[in-house]
Amino acid sequence: MAERKAGVTGRHDQGRHRHWIDGKPVEPASGDYLPTVDPTTREPGDTMAAGSAPDVDRAVDAAAAAYPDWAGRPAAERSDVLHRVADAVAAHAGELMELERACTGKVPAQLRLEADMSAAYFRYYAGVLRAHHGRTIDHGAGALTYTRLEPYGVVAAITPWNLPLNQACRAIAPALAVGNAVVAKPSELTSASTVRLAALATDAGLPDGLLNVVTGTGPDVGTPLAGHPAVRRIAFTGSVATGRHLAAIAADRLVPLTLELGGKSPLVVFADADLDRAVAAAVSAVTANAGQVCSATTRLLVESSVHDEVVARVAEAVERLVPGRDFGPMITEAQYRKVLDHFADARAAGALPVTGGSAYDSGPAARGLYIRPTVYAGVHPDLRIAREEIFGPVLVSLPFTDEADALALADDTEYGLVASVWSGDTARGLRLAERIDAGQVAVNGGPLTVETPFGGFKQSGYGREKGLEALHEYAQIKTVSVALRQ
Ligand code: NAD
Repeated sequence: MAERKAGVTGRHDQGRHRHWIDGKPVEPASGDYLPTVDPTTREPGDTMAAGSAPDVDRAVDAAAAAYPDWAGRPAAERSDVLHRVADAVAAHAGELMELERACTGKVPAQLRLEADMSAAYFRYYAGVLRAHHGRTIDHGAGALTYTRLEPYGVVAAITPWNLPLNQACRAIAPALAVGNAVVAKPSELTSASTVRLAALATDAGLPDGLLNVVTGTGPDVGTPLAGHPAVRRIAFTGSVATGRHLAAIAADRLVPLTLELGGKSPLVVFADADLDRAVAAAVSAVTANAGQVCSATTRLLVESSVHDEVVARVAEAVERLVPGRDFGPMITEAQYRKVLDHFADARAAGALPVTGGSAYDSGPAARGLYIRPTVYAGVHPDLRIAREEIFGPVLVSLPFTDEADALALADDTEYGLVASVWSGDTARGLRLAERIDAGQVAVNGGPLTVETPFGGFKQSGYGREKGLEALHEYAQIKTVSVALRQ
């Protein structure tokens, strides 16, 4: 405790970050540390504990020991603790943002957005917890029947690199609210902020063992964590391939899991839309985290009569964007290469961009993993760039003729995460919103926030994060019924 009061962070002076287990920093059993890289310069950064199965066992044991007391506390008490965690995240936003920046190169506006949302998850579920319980079922005067939201016990949260702290908090806050303990496994590329979150939560009064963070690679930490017999629920955000692997483990163990996977989401613009706002939305699909967002609306579907005008305006706007100020770099050399390979592939298929289509070869951006914002106009819907999630600052446009054509194109994807529809005719926007196969549809820029449930249709996954729905994802419902007649 004295160690915690002194503000132990999990971080060694040499820039090494240890695991956070049972309320304290823990050296990895292997003794090894993994490198991180600053993608704005390609220079090495801090190192992260290279976890392995013994570290997972230790964290799961701590979680299993901690949750029964936590689950047995009144909701208001758990709510108070989560409020204090929210306060701590908000108070240390600058430090958390710097940890995040160092390994992602995100720009300040993006970092601020993610830090604010991270705190908001704890505040939202702290509030929900005080008002949202089970229900009573009317069996007449002869019985009392009610339901309880009970925790699973130990929840595994396996998260990716693109919005690291934000995605960790999205799973951790509702899981803790219901009374679970969590073992978090962040991406090995971007773990520092999640480890620091756990230290801050401990300092803020979250009891030891309720939030443990084991860092390391997917195969070395994620797989043993998902397969651990004491883990009773899995929350996964990441790629389709890893989701499939974890779903197989969960199916074998009969453990529920949430899969938040990829997307190739449409942004549908009708000729009667407010084109200024629709163009701004298309530009932000490129700038927000440099397109490395699962919900990025990177398929720009535009009514034929305004297609060329909209594309020209978007291209003009993205050409004004400044790397390092308006958008960040790709996360890794591999992701950078993947985007460039998409460009080469499109070129080989005869598709040339109206702007972009390359990396920066001079100036400060050339030192980092920056890709020029790119727009391909009027592409064939079967091209790889039109079908696959690129995860870079790349838009493809396709013209459509009418509402039915717009719907067919919007749904012409294996994914179904989000859609954005723009029309001056709100009824038409709503008609489309109700028919598109996607977990969330924004009409004319409607907000999607911490309060709105989030998740996919089709290959974008299943289960819901955020909103009241997530509380139910992390709880199992128990029915209790008492006969009152003698
Ligand atoms: P990824 O699947 O490679 O990694 C995600 C997490 O899974 C990481 O922590 C990683 O270490 C772990 N992992 C990897 N291999 C594993 C294995 N064999 N066993 C267990 N764990 C393993 O994904 P990524 O490249 O980090 O993230 C990008 C993907 O995530 C994109 O496809 C993107 O669309 C998706 N994503 C989805 C959402 C959403 O909410 N739907 C949000 C962000 C990102």
